[in-house]
Amino acid sequence: MGGSNTPLTDLHCQSTASDGELPPERVVRLAAEAGVVTLALTDHDTLDGVSKASDAAKAAGIELVPGIELSVRAPSGSMHLLGYFRELGPQPLAAELSGMRRRRADRARVMVEKLGRLGIDIDYADVEARAAGPIGRPHVAEALVAAGHVADRQEAFDRYLADRAPAHTPHKGFGPQDAVRLIAESGGAPVLAHPNTLAMAPGELDRLVAGLRGAGLAGIEVHRSDHTLDDRRRLGALADRHGLVPSGGSDFHRPGEDRLGDTGSPALPIETAQLLLGS
Ligand code: AMP
Ligand code: FE
Ligand code: ZN
Repeated sequence: MGGSNTPLTDLHCQSTASDGELPPERVVRLAAEAGVVTLALTDHDTLDGVSKASDAAKAAGIELVPGIELSVRAPSGSMHLLGYFRELGPQPLAAELSGMRRRRADRARVMVEKLGRLGIDIDYADVEARAAGPIGRPHVAEALVAAGHVADRQEAFDRYLADRAPAHTPHKGFGPQDAVRLIAESGGAPVLAHPNTLAMAPGELDRLVAGLRGAGLAGIEVHRSDHTLDDRRRLGALADRHGLVPSGGSDFHRPGEDRLGDTGSPALPIETAQLLLGS
């Protein structure tokens, strides 16, 4: 596919380093084919895919921004914090990631136990085998599909794993302020991902964002294809009020479900990574 004529930027996607379907280098090639000229790889709680993605980006002639999507102990709903960096191994963040990985494995074990109590038996070993990196709910969902408990991944989320479903287990780990500080202290730009998953009333979200701004928050996701026009207006105004960069991305996990470079309309401005990281 030739992609569009307008160069695109996409600051949110996952690979097999976390819960995406394609290896980092394939993600980069597919993005380049779609017309993306600046791509950030943002795997959940790992930087492991970034170096392969960076090599592939050089070969494809596009810019790769090293990134991560950190799981945060949410005040409500679920909270992810994106971080963008100028270098491949930002410290102290990189040193914290093995602990994150352990906590994710513990959480997956708890989910398997909760499922067992619901009469839904799967082996933790089968979940673990599906993850090359940090274990996430999509890996549990795949194990549920493979064991025949549900027809597909979405049914696994709807019945068992979604934020208010019976086997859902929140992340332990960093609180919102500490997560923002960790990324900022590692030389990165912290950006609040998909604010809608926080499930907060506007006033509550405003107060959270004001507090995180004080800790160094640089942006929030506004440009996402799952945002309505109203979401964009509301979140765009929120970004404005707090002097934050309106960011975004495709949140690509797998072909067929998401499209690299698709940040909805109007598309994410091409200069966004520069605004976040400085030139
Ligand atoms: P985790 O980091 O383990 O909490 O898993 C988060 C990932 O699960 C997200 O990146 C999505 O890919 C997926 N996810 C979360 N909620 C849902 C949902 N309600 N339906 C489908 N996928 C979901
Ligand atoms: Fe994901
Ligand atoms: Zn996320």
